[in-house]
Amino acid sequence: MSALISLNGVSYQYEQAKEYALKELTVKIEANEWIAVLGRNGSGKSTFGRLLNGLLLPIEGSVLVSDLSTKDEQDVWSIRKKVGMVFQNPDHQFVATTVRDDLAFGLENLGLDRSTMEERITEYASLIGITHLLEAEPHRLSGGQKQRVAIAGIMAMEPDVIVFDEATSMLDPIGRKEVMDTIAMLHQRGVTIISITHDMEEAVRASRLLLFHDGELAIQGRPQEVFSQKERLAEFGLSLPFSIELQHELEKSGITLPKTCLTEEELVAELWTLYSMK
Ligand code: ADP
Ligand code: MG
Repeated sequence: MSALISLNGVSYQYEQAKEYALKELTVKIEANEWIAVLGRNGSGKSTFGRLLNGLLLPIEGSVLVSDLSTKDEQDVWSIRKKVGMVFQNPDHQFVATTVRDDLAFGLENLGLDRSTMEERITEYASLIGITHLLEAEPHRLSGGQKQRVAIAGIMAMEPDVIVFDEATSMLDPIGRKEVMDTIAMLHQRGVTIISITHDMEEAVRASRLLLFHDGELAIQGRPQEVFSQKERLAEFGLSLPFSIELQHELEKSGITLPKTCLTEEELVAELWTLYSMK
């Protein structure tokens, strides 16, 4: 079976830009992966995200979603239904005066009848945990609530993939956790997640990392593999998750653990094991 999404030698250049924003990128994404996309500002992450659902079209190469090319005009609508996007600023995603109407507005283009539309709103509001917010005015919600409403709206279209472009970066720690837990839950349910993020604690939860540098894919792999390359990551301006940072500090003082620990829980467990062997 072919990959859910495949980019084949994709290059993209913005009008009036001197450089390519993305250069000859070839990468495949399988169903139910959780990809974290990392890299400095300007490295091409958002460009990559926008190419996935045809918001941008490649200048060279092709982007295929379930074998449909984003360049085929008649397929762009099906591709947009398959690949939803959640953006950074939750305030830019609302058009209606209540959450319910906002969700309904998003579904209008799908050509569903009224009752199916209402069923979907009920179902996905409940799934995302925003049922109590349906009659609220979007601008009164917290940042985390706004992002979850945006996610419910996307989920109601029943996409295969959701691309999050720094969707948690404007949120406070509580909002960030709410959205993170929602992303993890959707992944559990089989949604393919592609999350552009600067949050390394989020990145460690992904199944694969793609690290961009100057419009190219510089490193990719499982979090365990990627985060063990400390020097290379520093070259690309990437910080390390807290537990790995701490592990490096421990190594400096002569405490070496047998494996790279991605989370605090893992690190604590390893330290206990080490301690109990003494
Ligand atoms: P990131 O999301 O990693 O910060 P982007 O994909 O937004 O990076 O940008 C990649 C490159 O393309 C950068 O050099 C950026 O300045 C340039 N760029 C992004 N958007 C535009 C635009 N609308 N017009 C011209 N250049 C752009
Ligand atoms: Mg960006």
